Amino acid sequence: MIRRIKGIGIHDDPAPEYDAVIIGAGIGGLISANLLAQAGVKTLLIEQHYVVGGYCSAFSRKGFHFDAASHFYPLLGNRESMTGKLLEKLGIPTEWVKMDPVDHFHFPDGTRYSVPADFDRYLNELKEMFPKESANLDAFFTEVRTLYLLGLLVYFRGKTTDRLDAYKDQTLREALDRYFSSRKLKLLLTADCPHWGSPPKRISYVFDSMLRLSYFLGNYYPKGGSQAFSNDLAARFEEAGGDLLLRADVSRIVIEKDAVTGVEMELGPVNKRRRVVVRSPVVISNADIIQTASRLIGEEYLGSDYIERLKSFRTSYPCYLMHIGLKDTEKEELAEAQGYHWREWDPENFGTTGLKFKFFVPTMFDPSVAPEGSQVVIIQKAMSVDYDAVDDWDEHKAELDRMVLRNLNKLIPRFSERVVVQMSASAKTSQRYTLNQCGSMLGWEMSPDQLGSDRPGISGPVSGLYQAGHWTKPGGGITPVIVSAMGVAEAITKNRIL
Ligand SMILES: Cc1cc2nc3c(=O)[nH]c(=O)nc-3n(C[C@H](O)[C@H](O)[C@H](O)COP(=O)(O)OP(=O)(O)OC[C@H]3O[C@@H](n4cnc5c(N)ncnc54)[C@H](O)[C@@H]3O)c2cc1C
Repeated sequence: MIRRIKGIGIHDDPAPEYDAVIIGAGIGGLISANLLAQAGVKTLLIEQHYVVGGYCSAFSRKGFHFDAASHFYPLLGNRESMTGKLLEKLGIPTEWVKMDPVDHFHFPDGTRYSVPADFDRYLNELKEMFPKESANLDAFFTEVRTLYLLGLLVYFRGKTTDRLDAYKDQTLREALDRYFSSRKLKLLLTADCPHWGSPPKRISYVFDSMLRLSYFLGNYYPKGGSQAFSNDLAARFEEAGGDLLLRADVSRIVIEKDAVTGVEMELGPVNKRRRVVVRSPVVISNADIIQTASRLIGEEYLGSDYIERLKSFRTSYPCYLMHIGLKDTEKEELAEAQGYHWREWDPENFGTTGLKFKFFVPTMFDPSVAPEGSQVVIIQKAMSVDYDAVDDWDEHKAELDRMVLRNLNKLIPRFSERVVVQMSASAKTSQRYTLNQCGSMLGWEMSPDQLGSDRPGISGPVSGLYQAGHWTKPGGGITPVIVSAMGVAEAITKNRIL
């Protein structure tokens, strides 16, 4: 069910003054907003799109509800986890459907493997499939467990320990090469790496260990889809007294005497847009960090060195998506096709030739996102794209559409005949709806040299400015983004959240 949110704006005016203003209602903005409002901070949340959620939003066509981007929500339905506890504390009513199997991989030799949600079963299955690697599997997962705990401590809790020193610069590729020789096992252990939006040779081994184990503590899909979760967060924020503005584009962070004093935005109906300034001593940007620096603050204030340094970071890849509504189809017909379809054994090239796509069926987890007897299929292909070199985005998308449909028709009999809705989204679409530069999936790439003290922090470059979301610490993906929002709320309220 999608709870309705009120959302002031379009026709209403915000109050002239707030204790805190948040730019962007992605998960980073929504979680910060809830934490502040529930702590009694008078908060305004401003979103340029007509829905909340950023990459965790959805859209509907002909009775089908499509997740715009994210659909894997690790840990959120597990009330024992840090983020699960946080949602409970905030009173977020979203219902979560646990995924089991967690994921599926199709290998270049035509074989397939489904990852069970139970860790012991998973490890035993791997040992049976790769008996010669059995001892190495034990050693690898012992190390992964250690890194999971140390990673939580250091990157999520901000503690220091030298026990991570030997690992924090390692990539996933280096770790797998250190332990294993079977190319099939190496692909199996990294077959879901496209969700990092960068190849294994540039993925942090520590962060990958944290995510790898979190799947066995529960990986979830929100009942009603991603928009239901985001709307629940927005509704709870409004109940706590917060104000939400939709279709309001912040164009400037106002700075006086070296401290933020508010924001300027454009809001209102298309033909009657108006400029409004709201005053606040605290501004949190959940927006793309380069946009925040160069468009909302400006080089005149920050200096070109600051902006050039930001531009020297590598962004994670964007993602091509196809959203499909299929009539007259039982979910069992699609079960075998789920997951990542690998063309090559070496995962490094997933953004070009290595991977066909990922095939995801949300109706497996919640049939209510499609009309009865119908299914939703979402195709994702994280892509290495030189964004500025693409001149014809329609043709770029059309070429991918043809490749995807050709393969879907091979995979599922009479696929095209059953299509009721078919839409696709490129990197440019992602940029248009979320203002993330180049449609980047997870902000800065999650490589060892762009994490920890090397990643921009939650305190911005001006007094009173904070940053929440995947462009800041600890990093990209739903869990790290929530952790960044908790850090921001703790810094502002000076209270420990959990
Ligand atoms: C295709 C895809 C699939 C993904 N799948 C998963 C997954 O399954 N699991 C997972 O954990 N992660 C996934 N990710 C990554 C994850 O979705 C993101 O890291 C996370 O949602 C980012 O949240 P955020 O709050 O930082 O920013 P965003 O979601 O980018 O939100 C930023 C918000 O700020 C608004 N905004 C920007 N500028 C302004 C402005 N000037 N004025 C007003 N509003 C503004 C935008 O409109 C947007 O709503 C995926 C990403 C993509 C693209």
